[in-house]
Amino acid sequence: MVSDGRSSSESERGGLAAINELLDESARPRGRTQGLISSSAIGLANRGRVLQVLFDLGPTSRAELARHVGVNRATITGIIQPLIDQGLLVDGDPLPSKVSGGKPAKPVWFAKDAAPICAVLLMHDSVHCCLVSLDGTITVEAKAAFPPDAEGVEALARPIFDTIRQTLSLAHRPPLGIGVAAGGMIDTDKGTIVAVNLAPLLAGFPLGAELTRRFGLTARVDHHPRALLVGDRWFGIGRGKRHFAVIYTGEVLGGAIFLDGHLYRGPAGGGGELGHTFVQVDGTICRCGRHGCWETIATLGWLRREAQQAGLPSAPVMDSRRLVALAEGGASSAAELLDRYARNVAVGIANLQQTMAPNFIVLHGDVVGGGPRLLDAIARHVRELVPWRPGGDIDLVMGDLEDRAALRGAAGLVLSELLHFTL
Ligand SMILES: [Zn+2]
Repeated sequence: MVSDGRSSSESERGGLAAINELLDESARPRGRTQGLISSSAIGLANRGRVLQVLFDLGPTSRAELARHVGVNRATITGIIQPLIDQGLLVDGDPLPSKVSGGKPAKPVWFAKDAAPICAVLLMHDSVHCCLVSLDGTITVEAKAAFPPDAEGVEALARPIFDTIRQTLSLAHRPPLGIGVAAGGMIDTDKGTIVAVNLAPLLAGFPLGAELTRRFGLTARVDHHPRALLVGDRWFGIGRGKRHFAVIYTGEVLGGAIFLDGHLYRGPAGGGGELGHTFVQVDGTICRCGRHGCWETIATLGWLRREAQQAGLPSAPVMDSRRLVALAEGGASSAAELLDRYARNVAVGIANLQQTMAPNFIVLHGDVVGGGPRLLDAIARHVRELVPWRPGGDIDLVMGDLEDRAALRGAAGLVLSELLHFTL
């Protein structure tokens, strides 16, 4: 049963109250509808559209919102005001007046003290939990490492649930839900962890259902790189984009793609296993048991082995930041390894670009520590590998080295679910 002091029905009711209007299930059209769409369903769709534009644009005046949605200001005010009255949105500080003068416009944005979302980053060796406000601010963080000698899944489940319980207990309002970004393969329909190569104990763990049972909150579980993408889409560098991709590198390698305004998951979340696309037929064996996966040549394991062979200092803990520092210090073997690592990362990006043409690619994880020098090298190799074509200019940008984007993305998973947005 529930052990956080609230009954599940209480916490669910409280958590959803802040956006009750948006979640009026009776008003939501389901599947094929008979007859006409009710006016309340139209109102719900209009609110969703305005909130999506607001997320895309950031803090925005009513006049700008009206222009983007293509309606008049009175209509926008009719949609915005109830959300301000509910405490979901607030009026920000006035924007500077335009040259033409007139009353300074006040931008509308999400209220910092609206009900937060509980976000969880679950990796093979640890859990990191926090609260995320609707404007993306992260508060109340808690972390726990998994015991290295764990023999049953309970030994991992305990720190996961304890960390979440601790975070929820510090929420100023009951959260809207729990979003989990998890390393490994996820069945996103069931919220179940299918497999984690580095933490086999977690295989088959029905995390989403367990979270809802224990805490009485909506729970969404998704693959870590997809959560990064959702974080960039809602709160970061991918805001407002119709096409982009994210790539995460580090101990493992993964990616996610957003095409024509939709996150592509594949059936039950089975798509997007970019780290295990093949780049070398009969290449080195991968942790997944196959040979020549992209992950075998563009992760820290490869980099550390090659650093060892090149006789570089700190080879066992080599990462992109250290490698760039060595190269900039004049070590020619470090510069050579840096270029090969950049090319290996670029190979998978080139394959992705050739297949899907996301054109805008955000790099997360270890490579971010390599800064502009590594980014420039990766971008140069990608351009060499991918022929230019109309509409095909490729932008590579650095995302987040830390957990921030993944935690915000985990929160974004819940937002997408609750507001029935297009993600
Ligand atoms: Zn593999």
